[in-house]
Amino acid sequence: MTDKTLKNIVILTGAGISAESGIPVFRSESGLWENERIEDVCVPEALKRDPQKVHNFYNKLRRSLLDKKPNGAHLAVSKLQREWPSFSGGSVTLVTQNIDDLHEKAGSSDVIHMHGALLCARCECCGASWRQERDTFPKMPCPKCGKIGGVRPDIVFFEEMPHDMELIEKALAKCDLFLAVGTSGVVYPAAGFCRFAKSVGATCLEFNLKKSAVASDFDAGFYGKASETLPKFVDGLLSGKGLEI
Ligand code: NAD
Repeated sequence: MTDKTLKNIVILTGAGISAESGIPVFRSESGLWENERIEDVCVPEALKRDPQKVHNFYNKLRRSLLDKKPNGAHLAVSKLQREWPSFSGGSVTLVTQNIDDLHEKAGSSDVIHMHGALLCARCECCGASWRQERDTFPKMPCPKCGKIGGVRPDIVFFEEMPHDMELIEKALAKCDLFLAVGTSGVVYPAAGFCRFAKSVGATCLEFNLKKSAVASDFDAGFYGKASETLPKFVDGLLSGKGLEI
Protein backbone atom coordinates (compact mmCIF):
# COMPACT_ATOMS: atom_id res chain seq x y z
CA MET A 1 0.00 0.00 0.00
CA THR A 2 1.32 3.43 -0.85
CA ASP A 3 1.75 5.77 2.08
CA LYS A 4 0.44 9.28 1.77
CA THR A 5 0.04 11.98 4.35
CA LEU A 6 -2.60 10.81 6.76
CA LYS A 7 -4.33 13.27 9.03
CA ASN A 8 -8.02 12.70 9.41
CA ILE A 9 -9.35 9.25 10.21
CA VAL A 10 -12.93 8.00 10.28
CA ILE A 11 -13.59 4.67 11.99
CA LEU A 12 -16.87 2.84 11.40
CA THR A 13 -17.56 -0.05 13.74
CA GLY A 14 -20.24 -2.74 13.56
CA ALA A 15 -21.51 -5.65 15.59
CA GLY A 16 -18.34 -7.69 14.89
CA ILE A 17 -16.18 -5.48 17.12
CA SER A 18 -18.34 -6.43 20.10
CA ALA A 19 -18.71 -10.12 19.24
CA GLU A 20 -15.61 -11.10 21.25
CA SER A 21 -17.10 -9.28 24.23
CA GLY A 22 -20.03 -11.68 24.16
CA ILE A 23 -22.60 -9.57 22.29
CA PRO A 24 -23.96 -11.62 19.38
CA VAL A 25 -23.76 -10.18 15.84
CA PHE A 26 -26.83 -9.47 13.81
CA ARG A 27 -26.72 -11.62 10.74
CA SER A 28 -26.94 -15.15 12.05
CA GLU A 29 -27.84 -18.01 9.72
CA SER A 30 -31.25 -18.23 11.41
CA GLY A 31 -32.08 -14.62 10.47
CA LEU A 32 -33.00 -14.02 14.11
CA TRP A 33 -31.57 -11.36 16.42
CA GLU A 34 -31.44 -12.54 20.03
CA ASN A 35 -34.14 -15.11 19.18
CA GLU A 36 -36.53 -12.57 17.71
CA ARG A 37 -37.48 -11.84 14.10
CA ILE A 38 -36.18 -8.44 12.95
CA GLU A 39 -39.69 -7.43 11.85
CA ASP A 40 -41.00 -8.02 15.39
CA VAL A 41 -38.53 -5.77 17.20
CA CYS A 42 -36.66 -3.60 14.72
CA VAL A 43 -39.23 -1.78 12.58
CA PRO A 44 -41.57 1.13 13.46
CA GLU A 45 -44.62 -1.07 12.79
CA ALA A 46 -43.58 -3.44 15.58
CA LEU A 47 -43.63 -0.61 18.11
CA LYS A 48 -47.20 0.26 17.10
CA ARG A 49 -48.37 -3.36 16.95
CA ASP A 50 -46.87 -4.65 20.19
CA PRO A 51 -45.08 -1.90 22.14
CA GLN A 52 -44.68 -4.06 25.25
CA LYS A 53 -42.77 -6.70 23.28
CA VAL A 54 -40.42 -4.08 21.80
CA HIS A 55 -39.77 -2.42 25.17
CA ASN A 56 -39.20 -5.84 26.78
CA PHE A 57 -36.71 -6.78 24.05
CA TYR A 58 -34.56 -3.68 24.48
CA ASN A 59 -34.90 -3.77 28.30
CA LYS A 60 -33.40 -7.24 28.26
CA LEU A 61 -30.58 -6.18 25.92
CA ARG A 62 -29.88 -3.07 28.05
CA ARG A 63 -29.63 -5.20 31.21
CA SER A 64 -27.33 -7.64 29.42
CA LEU A 65 -24.78 -4.84 28.89
CA LEU A 66 -24.04 -4.57 32.60
CA ASP A 67 -21.47 -7.36 32.70
CA LYS A 68 -20.02 -6.85 29.21
CA LYS A 69 -16.48 -5.56 28.92
CA PRO A 70 -14.65 -3.94 26.02
CA ASN A 71 -12.05 -6.05 24.20
CA GLY A 72 -8.69 -5.21 22.64
CA ALA A 73 -10.30 -3.75 19.52
CA HIS A 74 -12.38 -1.21 21.49
CA LEU A 75 -9.27 -0.31 23.50
CA ALA A 76 -7.23 0.15 20.30
CA VAL A 77 -9.86 2.55 18.95
CA SER A 78 -9.78 4.66 22.11
CA LYS A 79 -5.96 4.67 22.11
CA LEU A 80 -6.00 5.97 18.53
CA GLN A 81 -8.52 8.68 19.46
CA ARG A 82 -6.33 9.74 22.38
CA GLU A 83 -2.91 9.66 20.73
CA TRP A 84 -3.45 10.33 17.02
CA PRO A 85 -4.24 14.09 17.25
CA SER A 86 -0.92 14.96 18.95
CA PHE A 87 0.99 12.44 16.80
CA SER A 88 -0.32 13.69 13.44
CA GLY A 89 -2.17 16.95 14.00
CA GLY A 90 -5.24 15.22 12.56
CA SER A 91 -8.53 13.94 13.96
CA VAL A 92 -10.26 10.64 14.65
CA THR A 93 -14.05 10.46 14.21
CA LEU A 94 -15.65 7.36 15.67
CA VAL A 95 -18.96 6.27 14.16
CA THR A 96 -20.59 3.11 15.42
CA GLN A 97 -23.58 1.16 14.21
CA ASN A 98 -23.61 -0.52 17.60
CA ILE A 99 -26.12 0.23 20.28
CA ASP A 100 -23.94 -1.13 23.09
CA ASP A 101 -21.73 1.03 25.33
CA LEU A 102 -18.41 -0.79 24.88
CA HIS A 103 -16.64 2.10 23.12
CA GLU A 104 -17.53 4.35 26.05
CA LYS A 105 -16.43 1.67 28.54
CA ALA A 106 -13.10 1.51 26.68
CA GLY A 107 -12.64 5.24 27.24
CA SER A 108 -13.75 6.60 23.85
CA SER A 109 -15.40 9.98 23.83
CA ASP A 110 -17.60 11.66 21.24
CA VAL A 111 -18.93 8.34 19.97
CA ILE A 112 -21.43 8.88 17.16
CA HIS A 113 -24.11 6.21 17.68
CA MET A 114 -25.70 6.40 14.25
CA HIS A 115 -28.22 3.64 15.08
CA GLY A 116 -28.96 4.92 18.56
CA ALA A 117 -27.93 3.59 21.95
CA LEU A 118 -29.46 1.16 24.40
CA LEU A 119 -28.62 3.50 27.26
CA CYS A 120 -30.73 6.29 25.76
CA ALA A 121 -34.45 6.79 25.37
CA ARG A 122 -36.37 9.39 23.44
CA CYS A 123 -39.87 10.82 23.23
CA GLU A 124 -41.72 10.78 19.94
CA CYS A 125 -44.05 13.54 21.20
CA CYS A 126 -41.47 16.26 21.99
CA GLY A 127 -38.28 14.89 20.39
CA ALA A 128 -36.29 14.94 23.66
CA SER A 129 -33.68 12.27 24.31
CA TRP A 130 -31.92 11.37 27.53
CA ARG A 131 -29.69 8.78 29.21
CA GLN A 132 -31.80 5.81 30.29
CA GLU A 133 -30.23 3.15 32.48
CA ARG A 134 -33.44 1.53 33.72
CA ASP A 135 -36.20 -0.31 31.88
CA THR A 136 -38.64 1.64 29.73
CA PHE A 137 -42.32 0.80 29.32
CA PRO A 138 -45.06 1.91 26.90
CA LYS A 139 -47.06 3.97 29.42
CA MET A 140 -43.98 5.73 30.80
CA PRO A 141 -44.43 9.52 30.95
CA CYS A 142 -41.79 11.53 29.15
CA PRO A 143 -39.52 13.19 31.76
CA LYS A 144 -39.39 16.33 29.60
CA CYS A 145 -42.94 16.95 28.26
CA GLY A 146 -44.87 14.65 30.61
CA LYS A 147 -46.87 13.02 27.79
CA ILE A 148 -47.61 9.32 27.86
CA GLY A 149 -47.21 7.05 24.84
CA GLY A 150 -44.21 8.62 23.11
CA VAL A 151 -41.31 7.16 25.09
CA ARG A 152 -39.26 4.53 23.28
CA PRO A 153 -35.73 3.18 23.37
CA ASP A 154 -33.49 5.48 21.30
CA ILE A 155 -32.83 2.82 18.69
CA VAL A 156 -32.96 3.58 14.98
CA PHE A 157 -35.22 1.00 13.37
CA PHE A 158 -35.12 -0.13 9.77
CA GLU A 159 -36.83 2.52 7.57
CA GLU A 160 -35.83 5.29 10.03
CA MET A 161 -33.19 7.96 9.47
CA PRO A 162 -29.90 7.28 11.28
CA HIS A 163 -28.65 9.90 13.74
CA ASP A 164 -26.03 12.56 12.96
CA MET A 165 -25.75 11.95 9.22
CA GLU A 166 -24.66 15.53 8.59
CA LEU A 167 -21.84 15.23 11.12
CA ILE A 168 -20.75 11.90 9.62
CA GLU A 169 -20.76 13.19 6.06
CA LYS A 170 -18.69 16.21 7.12
CA ALA A 171 -16.07 13.91 8.67
CA LEU A 172 -16.06 11.59 5.63
CA ALA A 173 -15.65 14.54 3.27
CA LYS A 174 -12.30 15.44 4.83
CA CYS A 175 -10.99 11.99 5.71
CA ASP A 176 -7.68 10.54 4.54
CA LEU A 177 -8.15 7.11 6.07
CA PHE A 178 -11.38 5.17 6.52
CA LEU A 179 -11.42 2.04 8.69
CA ALA A 180 -14.41 -0.31 8.79
CA VAL A 181 -14.25 -2.74 11.70
CA GLY A 182 -16.53 -5.75 12.19
CA THR A 183 -19.28 -4.70 9.84
CA SER A 184 -20.91 -6.80 7.13
CA GLY A 185 -21.40 -3.77 4.87
CA VAL A 186 -24.98 -4.57 3.99
CA VAL A 187 -26.87 -2.07 6.17
CA TYR A 188 -27.29 1.30 4.41
CA PRO A 189 -26.35 4.11 4.65
CA ALA A 190 -23.26 2.89 6.56
CA ALA A 191 -22.52 0.45 3.73
CA GLY A 192 -21.99 3.44 1.43
CA PHE A 193 -19.42 5.22 3.62
CA CYS A 194 -16.45 3.43 2.04
CA ARG A 195 -17.39 4.62 -1.46
CA PHE A 196 -17.93 8.15 -0.15
CA ALA A 197 -14.51 8.12 1.52
CA LYS A 198 -12.90 6.74 -1.66
CA SER A 199 -14.50 9.51 -3.69
CA VAL A 200 -12.58 12.10 -1.64
CA GLY A 201 -9.32 10.18 -2.02
CA ALA A 202 -9.20 8.35 1.31
CA THR A 203 -7.47 5.02 1.76
CA CYS A 204 -10.09 2.50 2.89
CA LEU A 205 -9.34 -0.59 4.97
CA GLU A 206 -11.59 -3.27 6.38
CA PHE A 207 -11.05 -5.39 9.49
CA ASN A 208 -13.21 -8.48 9.56
CA LEU A 209 -13.05 -12.21 10.25
CA LYS A 210 -13.34 -12.74 6.51
CA LYS A 211 -13.87 -10.69 3.36
CA SER A 212 -17.20 -8.89 3.64
CA ALA A 213 -19.73 -8.60 0.82
CA VAL A 214 -18.23 -5.18 -0.01
CA ALA A 215 -14.55 -6.13 0.35
CA SER A 216 -13.81 -5.09 -3.23
CA ASP A 217 -14.69 -1.47 -2.37
CA PHE A 218 -11.70 -1.36 0.02
CA ASP A 219 -8.02 -0.89 -0.78
CA ALA A 220 -7.09 -3.73 1.54
CA GLY A 221 -8.40 -5.87 4.36
CA PHE A 222 -7.00 -7.32 7.58
CA TYR A 223 -8.67 -10.63 8.29
CA GLY A 224 -8.92 -12.31 11.68
CA LYS A 225 -10.24 -11.30 15.08
CA ALA A 226 -10.45 -7.51 15.37
CA SER A 227 -9.08 -7.78 18.93
CA GLU A 228 -5.84 -9.03 17.35
CA THR A 229 -5.58 -7.20 14.01
CA LEU A 230 -6.66 -3.73 15.12
CA PRO A 231 -4.30 -3.23 18.10
CA LYS A 232 -1.34 -4.23 15.88
CA PHE A 233 -2.46 -1.85 13.17
CA VAL A 234 -2.98 1.04 15.60
CA ASP A 235 0.41 0.48 17.21
CA GLY A 236 1.98 0.54 13.72
CA LEU A 237 0.25 3.82 12.85
CA LEU A 238 1.28 5.44 16.13
CA SER A 239 4.87 4.36 15.72
CA GLY A 240 5.05 5.87 12.24
CA LYS A 241 5.16 2.53 10.41
CA GLY A 242 2.17 3.48 8.28
CA LEU A 243 -0.61 1.26 7.05
CA GLU A 244 0.86 -2.20 7.52
CA ILE A 245 0.31 -4.63 10.37
P1 NAD B 1 -23.48 -7.67 11.17
O1 NAD B 1 -23.96 -8.54 12.27
O2 NAD B 1 -24.30 -7.55 9.95
O3 NAD B 1 -22.02 -8.15 10.74
C1 NAD B 1 -21.00 -8.36 11.67
C2 NAD B 1 -19.69 -8.49 10.91
O4 NAD B 1 -18.64 -8.62 11.87
C3 NAD B 1 -19.62 -9.71 10.01
O5 NAD B 1 -19.13 -9.30 8.73
C4 NAD B 1 -18.62 -10.65 10.71
O6 NAD B 1 -17.84 -11.40 9.78
C5 NAD B 1 -17.77 -9.65 11.46
N1 NAD B 1 -17.15 -10.19 12.68
C6 NAD B 1 -17.66 -11.05 13.57
N2 NAD B 1 -16.81 -11.27 14.58
C7 NAD B 1 -15.71 -10.52 14.32
C8 NAD B 1 -14.47 -10.32 15.00
N3 NAD B 1 -14.18 -10.94 16.15
N4 NAD B 1 -13.56 -9.49 14.44
C9 NAD B 1 -13.82 -8.86 13.24
N5 NAD B 1 -14.98 -9.01 12.59
C10 NAD B 1 -15.92 -9.83 13.10
O7 NAD B 1 -23.20 -6.25 11.82
P2 NAD B 1 -23.35 -4.78 11.27
O8 NAD B 1 -22.71 -4.65 9.94
O9 NAD B 1 -22.89 -3.91 12.39
O10 NAD B 1 -24.92 -4.53 11.07
C11 NAD B 1 -25.80 -4.99 12.04
C12 NAD B 1 -26.75 -3.96 12.68
O11 NAD B 1 -27.24 -4.57 13.89
C13 NAD B 1 -26.05 -2.72 13.12
O12 NAD B 1 -26.71 -1.70 12.53
C14 NAD B 1 -26.25 -2.63 14.63
O13 NAD B 1 -27.07 -1.51 14.95
C15 NAD B 1 -27.08 -3.81 15.05
N6 NAD B 1 -26.42 -4.65 16.09
C16 NAD B 1 -25.69 -4.09 17.09
C17 NAD B 1 -25.05 -4.88 18.02
C18 NAD B 1 -24.25 -4.21 19.12
O14 NAD B 1 -24.60 -3.10 19.51
N7 NAD B 1 -23.18 -4.83 19.60
C19 NAD B 1 -25.15 -6.27 17.95
C20 NAD B 1 -25.91 -6.82 16.91
C21 NAD B 1 -26.55 -6.00 15.98
